[in-house]
Amino acid sequence: MSATPIENLSKLCIHTITTKSWSLEEAGERYEAAGVKGISVWRQYLEGRNIAASGDRLRNHGLEIVSLVRGGFFPSTVAATRQKAIEDNLKAVDEAAALGAEMIVLVCGADPGQSLETSRAQIQAGIEKVLPYAIEAGVKLAIEPLHPMYADTRSAVNTLEQANDMAEAIGSEFVGIAADVYHLWWDPHLEKEIKRCGANGNLFAFHICDWVSPTVDMLNDRGLMGEGCIPIKQIRGWVEEAGFSGFNEVEIFSDRHWASDQQEFLANIVSSYKSC
Ligand code: ZN
Repeated sequence: MSATPIENLSKLCIHTITTKSWSLEEAGERYEAAGVKGISVWRQYLEGRNIAASGDRLRNHGLEIVSLVRGGFFPSTVAATRQKAIEDNLKAVDEAAALGAEMIVLVCGADPGQSLETSRAQIQAGIEKVLPYAIEAGVKLAIEPLHPMYADTRSAVNTLEQANDMAEAIGSEFVGIAADVYHLWWDPHLEKEIKRCGANGNLFAFHICDWVSPTVDMLNDRGLMGEGCIPIKQIRGWVEEAGFSGFNEVEIFSDRHWASDQQEFLANIVSSYKSC
């Protein structure tokens, strides 16, 4: 099944990193003016600010704060580094609670000095250590599986199946998954795993952008929806069929788009959003 067309912007959320050069205040104003209804805040945009006041300010722009990005980076061959990661994730919980964000997106991490299995075990242990504090604060944790090209240093969780396994093993309603089309579109088991994720109540977030060919930078060459080869509409259909009714979060890291006029880029995001 393919999704029905998007008729309005009521589910459109944008990650602040997408319009990288804009401050949090500027993003809030311009997103509101463009009709955007949700915002996911990257932590660097909160630096030097009163976080609670920043949250109120965004809500006054009619924006729901969908998520705080990002926590994670749990694995390391060095125990002290793993402990530091736990402390940073506890701090992220405080920030999310102050901001009024429902969840933290976890880029789980990996260390090329050890096996992916060991890194995954450390990720699960790390999430389980942070979890009681997150529950107390009312903040959910969303595991984001990353494309396998990032398995060396960014995440040892590379498929939705692995993320489902981990979320189910932890077994808390405060731990779920952020499904990003950029990382998952190639997976032959995607439809099945999205269904499983929804059926277990673990589908917390849905991120969109596109995969451009040729990709010239592993990190900062994501495309605007429609510029690449990801069947976004089909995947959105699976996600909605699995019971997801949250925001469609536009998350684009792109040197090319960041170098363009950001107001024009925002207009293009809105128009391409309606066709995906
Ligand atoms: Zn994402």
